[in-house]
Amino acid sequence: MTSLLGITQFLTWTYLFVTAALAYTPLSNDSLRRLPSGSSDFNLDTDTGASLLAPILIPRVPATPGSQKVQRHFVDFFAQQLPAWTVEWHNVTWTTPATGDQQVPFSNLIFRRDPPWAAVGDVARLTLAAHYDTLYRPEGFIGAIDSAAPCAMLMHAARSIDLALTEKWAAMEASGDAGDGLEEEKGVQILFLDGEEAWVSWTQADSLYGSRALAAKWESTQYDGLSAFSTPLDSISLFVLLDLLGAADPHVPSYFAKTHWAYQHMAAVEDRLRKLGMLETGPSSRFLLESSKRAHQFSGGFVEDDHVPFMARGVDIFHVIPMPFPPVWHTMDDDGAHLDLPTTRDWAKIVSAFVAEWMDLEGFIPEPPPPVATPSSKTKTKQYTEKSEL
Ligand SMILES: [Zn+2]
Repeated sequence: MTSLLGITQFLTWTYLFVTAALAYTPLSNDSLRRLPSGSSDFNLDTDTGASLLAPILIPRVPATPGSQKVQRHFVDFFAQQLPAWTVEWHNVTWTTPATGDQQVPFSNLIFRRDPPWAAVGDVARLTLAAHYDTLYRPEGFIGAIDSAAPCAMLMHAARSIDLALTEKWAAMEASGDAGDGLEEEKGVQILFLDGEEAWVSWTQADSLYGSRALAAKWESTQYDGLSAFSTPLDSISLFVLLDLLGAADPHVPSYFAKTHWAYQHMAAVEDRLRKLGMLETGPSSRFLLESSKRAHQFSGGFVEDDHVPFMARGVDIFHVIPMPFPPVWHTMDDDGAHLDLPTTRDWAKIVSAFVAEWMDLEGFIPEPPPPVATPSSKTKTKQYTEKSEL
């Protein structure tokens, strides 16, 4: 993403707040406490195979072996740990100003979970997105905040809600509430987008390769005429885009009056998790500070990023990106060593709780499994025992 644009228009938002808020149920304190911690998901070493993040911390220029490795990491994770999610590849080619006439392949990956009884065109989908490609230059650029960490946060969030979704939908089927037409059918999808970065310098043509193609395709794909939604684009209930997250002390503004209600929900979740002592960063370091922003305070400024092609087609956007950008942005210092892991894990928890509330999972969040003794914890116990014997 690059520049901050200024626009002067904004839409009336009071009405939208009232209608959209009906579909959102806050989690109880008990449920918030049960959310899994990020723990090993955000380890920086690949040795144990437990980290979701570490395999993404490599250069991921489109159509290179690094990019393909990371695609496999996403696909393997869902296949092995979340088999109820479907995978869809969206492949497209573009030329770029750095590569001349050569057609460069880009691949967006879409992982999705819909209610099992619902027809594909009847599901309103919370859409969570991050880009996984990295800059073409400087060579070797890792892009930890941009956007390896956001990708890992989305993987973590998917796993955090998966069992609760299964149980909620099973309970709905057992009670006869499934597909009764009284409630909107709610699904969730995760987009790992390719080709967000410019290859030479940011222009409309040299940026957003994956998201521009996906938004156009989803606008032109028609669902069955009897469906609740006309196209996959129309079925997006909210497009939540995570970018540049994982550096310490982020300040994420509320960019859009139209979706400020969603921002307020995530800010409320953050606030409650902090009060419950469930976040690792200090209580004074709130990430989402603009909950009380008033309609007249929205300037219309926003950051150009993967949401733009969707926003241009009328999709509601919640852009979770700090302003100012973290100091390591687009430098060789944007690597694993410069991530702030407590901040990264806190974001993962906040996003997971927001998704769980959106999907109405109150009452279905399971108790976390008892901690498994790892080799390091055994070592610690042993050291302690030895010390106590001395
Ligand atoms: Zn970038």
